[in-house]
Amino acid sequence: MNIQVLPPKPPLSGLSFDLIQFNRKLRPTAARRDGDGIAYADYERMHTHRMTAGVHHRNDYSWAHNDATVREVLAAMLSKRLYVRIHPTLENIRFADKLFECQSERMMVKAHRHWEKFHARPKHPTNEEARSIFSARQAGGLSHFYLGILLRCTRQNLESTVVAEEMHCTPQNVRVMLARMHYMAKRLAAGTCRFPKRVLADEAAKQKHLAKYLPKKPAKQPVFIPNPTGLCVCGCGQMTERAKQTERFKGRVKGEFSMFRPGHVSRVRPGSGRPKNAAVAA
Ligand SMILES: [Zn+2]
Repeated sequence: MNIQVLPPKPPLSGLSFDLIQFNRKLRPTAARRDGDGIAYADYERMHTHRMTAGVHHRNDYSWAHNDATVREVLAAMLSKRLYVRIHPTLENIRFADKLFECQSERMMVKAHRHWEKFHARPKHPTNEEARSIFSARQAGGLSHFYLGILLRCTRQNLESTVVAEEMHCTPQNVRVMLARMHYMAKRLAAGTCRFPKRVLADEAAKQKHLAKYLPKKPAKQPVFIPNPTGLCVCGCGQMTERAKQTERFKGRVKGEFSMFRPGHVSRVRPGSGRPKNAAVAA
């Protein structure tokens, strides 16, 4: 016979303690009732009373058995998370997944850079935020994460601890997400749901919005080209000045001759100098 004595395996991303799961109905009468700092072993030496069976305010998740409603709730949740109105179509939900992927990717790159620069983790995202983002990424996208929690809890009737283990998050996360989705469904049914004002109507607008989060191309770095004679490269025959300080982004090294006299670049490379005054050109 297999008796489980130990608590269930904690989820992949960090330890978590699920108070609800381990809470007993035995409560100390005089001491703090939240159980903070009191081991259950201490209860033996304390005055305790057994709690009467409480009334469970269970949510009615019947809405989760209707695919159309689930899709609407999912779209509303995604809209809230991404600050963009996501309409409940498959195409839009896929776009939301893509957007989240780009955003989280960018967040991770930024955090990595911060780590390299300051040898400390950035303040944002916090540990909890980062963990939930990782969970969603592991689930294969934001919509997969939401749907995975919702359908496992409602249609398969699984415990939050089991769902948490499958979704690589904490049981608290599962219950909070479930409650949020239920609240959203309630508001949608009542017609009091508020959506973000940003609407991406067509494909071009979507791509434009997505481009904000796509990885940027690295800036082109000018290369230092030595000019030992000190004559201006444009061919005017004048001498150039020695650079007073190193400016790698301008291709200059301190003490070396620069390539052009000031303003002579535009003679060789049209358009690279200061833009000409429109009135003069006319
Ligand atoms: Zn010149």
